Amino acid sequence: MGLTIGVDIGGTKIAAGVVDEDGSILDTSQVATPPTPEGVVEAIADAVKTVGRGSSAEAVGIGAAGYVDDKRATVLFAPNIAWRHEALKDKIEQRVSMSVVVENDANAAAWGEYRFGAGAGHEDVVCITLGTGLGGGIILGGRLYRGRFGVAGEFGHIRVVPDGLMCGCGSQGCWEQYASGRALVRYARQRATATPDAATVLLELGDGTPEGIEGRHVSAAAREGDPVAIDSFRELARWAGAGLADLASLFDPGAFIVGGGVSDEGDLVLDPIRKSFRRWLVGTRYRPHAQVLAAQLGGRAGLVGAADLARQG
Ligand SMILES: [Zn+2]
Repeated sequence: MGLTIGVDIGGTKIAAGVVDEDGSILDTSQVATPPTPEGVVEAIADAVKTVGRGSSAEAVGIGAAGYVDDKRATVLFAPNIAWRHEALKDKIEQRVSMSVVVENDANAAAWGEYRFGAGAGHEDVVCITLGTGLGGGIILGGRLYRGRFGVAGEFGHIRVVPDGLMCGCGSQGCWEQYASGRALVRYARQRATATPDAATVLLELGDGTPEGIEGRHVSAAAREGDPVAIDSFRELARWAGAGLADLASLFDPGAFIVGGGVSDEGDLVLDPIRKSFRRWLVGTRYRPHAQVLAAQLGGRAGLVGAADLARQG
């Protein structure tokens, strides 16, 4: 199979792209994400038809945030779109006349990085995506590990703090409450409240109040050396690295790949993650260490990965 189409469903836009066998995106189309579940289905079909017109694309891979069933056909549950047992594969196939594979978006991104990004040269890779929340994907022996029911790799809701912070999932103390873009902002606001004199750069980037601090402000302030912003990244990294040490106990991968918006800061966040990972790795002085690598494909990983999974059939 030559060209395939990958689809990335974001909160504000739906992107479809024609992708070749090397993971290069040849053409893209975008539409705004409609507010209704039925609207999203139509918008996906429209984006695929627009970008597929005149190309020789033969199949479609869709990355969707949520639980996707073991047949890669039905979105069982999506947190941000009101999809409950949504038969997405069938609905899109009826509209675009191509075979469709549906995959969890973090799994698709992990596959994209494994095939065409930071995972080069590895067969056993575990990815975490530090975005608003924390997503995950597992590649073992060169295959995407989906679990019996299709929902493996949902690391964000591993409970790392008994009776910890409330999570949107209904549980408490979930990992993503401590290691995610949202957690980073919380750390910065807490620190700016406690020590405003140390957070002048950070506060000026927002509206002057701790509540006005957003993720992009923390990144910009950290690059300017703001101590509160840097410390906020370190706190996030401490939790992220400790969690990777636990994942090493589970999977023993050759590499961890850290993606998502937070990883755009590169070594500013990756180095403290590596340090925390080594600190918490059991038997750290007496065993080989997995590499902790920054993702390379950025926001393209999900689309490229979904397209490649469609190619694999
Ligand atoms: Zn949770």
